[in-house]
Amino acid sequence: MTGFQGRHFLQIPGPSPVPDRVLRAIDMPVIDHRSAAFAELGKAVLSGSQKIFQTSGPVIIFPSSGTGAWEAAIVNTLSAGDKVLMVETGHFATLWQKMARRLGLDVEFIPGDWRHGADPAAIGEHLAQDKDHAIKAVMVVHNETSTGVTSRIALIRKAIDDAKHPALLLVDTISSLGSADYRHEEWGVDVTVSCSQKGFMLPPGLGFNAISEKARAKAKTGGMPRSYWDWEDMLKPNADGFFPYTPATNLLYGLREAIAMMLEEGLENVFARHKRLAAATREAVTHWGLEVLCQNPEEYSPVLTAVVMPPGHDADQFRKIVLENFNMSLGAGLTKLSGKVFRIGHLGECNELTLLAALTGIEMGLSIAGVPHRAGGVDAAMKLLEDRTSANAANH
Ligand code: PLP
Repeated sequence: MTGFQGRHFLQIPGPSPVPDRVLRAIDMPVIDHRSAAFAELGKAVLSGSQKIFQTSGPVIIFPSSGTGAWEAAIVNTLSAGDKVLMVETGHFATLWQKMARRLGLDVEFIPGDWRHGADPAAIGEHLAQDKDHAIKAVMVVHNETSTGVTSRIALIRKAIDDAKHPALLLVDTISSLGSADYRHEEWGVDVTVSCSQKGFMLPPGLGFNAISEKARAKAKTGGMPRSYWDWEDMLKPNADGFFPYTPATNLLYGLREAIAMMLEEGLENVFARHKRLAAATREAVTHWGLEVLCQNPEEYSPVLTAVVMPPGHDADQFRKIVLENFNMSLGAGLTKLSGKVFRIGHLGECNELTLLAALTGIEMGLSIAGVPHRAGGVDAAMKLLEDRTSANAANH
């Protein structure tokens, strides 16, 4: 931006701001990716990533965006013609479903209203009816970035187990990992897909697959034709800290630092901070008299809040006013939510004061844009955040 002093406020739900500590870590000479020094870095990020995914199994790191990691999950575990069950939680679930179809999968897409997460009971019913186990995978988005709705993965796992169904469970944690509590191993997920530019607080450029033994076994004997995305090609050199092709060396320096930051804070504290900031955001939004898009309090996203614009007011016009007046980017409504919602990111490098500044910019923006609202939303958020010791604050 020109004409502004101070930092740009990047309050979109990813890419999220990169902490200075991570920027410093990335600012290093590129090293020989076949050297002993690189192997040390490789081993550190591969084992460190396991802690963030909460798994003792392998985590694969591709030089890619999240979309690449989506494709890797599919081509390693599924074959053209395989039936898969997916749920329309929003824009990103819809895109992953389109990719699955393009790769030749037979997708059963449970319709959704973009205001709720994937319903474990509906998944259970579909699986119970699938007596001959034609469904090879259940594929869901943990945190639907277009709506601010989180799906309950542990309950979905339970629904699959209750139906005694052997389908794989593939989960997109692209905007939740490192922000919302997520347990790859405990929740029995077969492939967890993620990327660098959200909870990991890194620039875009790394895609992740955490994989179960069952998924790896499937990949060894099946999957689709693949080369770049092949897991085994990665896992062999990974055992010694190396990669089969040139890795994104400097992003890996950043990843090592970001993991250190998350572990220093403690994952529990990271998750609690995100919940607290999300609760404060909803407090402001409801005080303003605006509506949170997510309709089920058990599915509120700790990562972002999507806010419904009152009828007759355009969310993109409002976002433009906020950007031009206060140098802050808010997330746009995507596809069918275009112009109808704006999204507030409160993830990664975000604390109480960052959030309050962002909410202040929004409250001023609402006044300038002439959007009817009740003043004092920031005050309401402050009150919630002042109550730092209350266990209720995080669960509000
Ligand atoms: N899935 C989710 C939930 C996302 O939020 C995004 C991007 O925002 C993607 C997938 C696609 O990731 P990328 O844009 O890195 O390819």
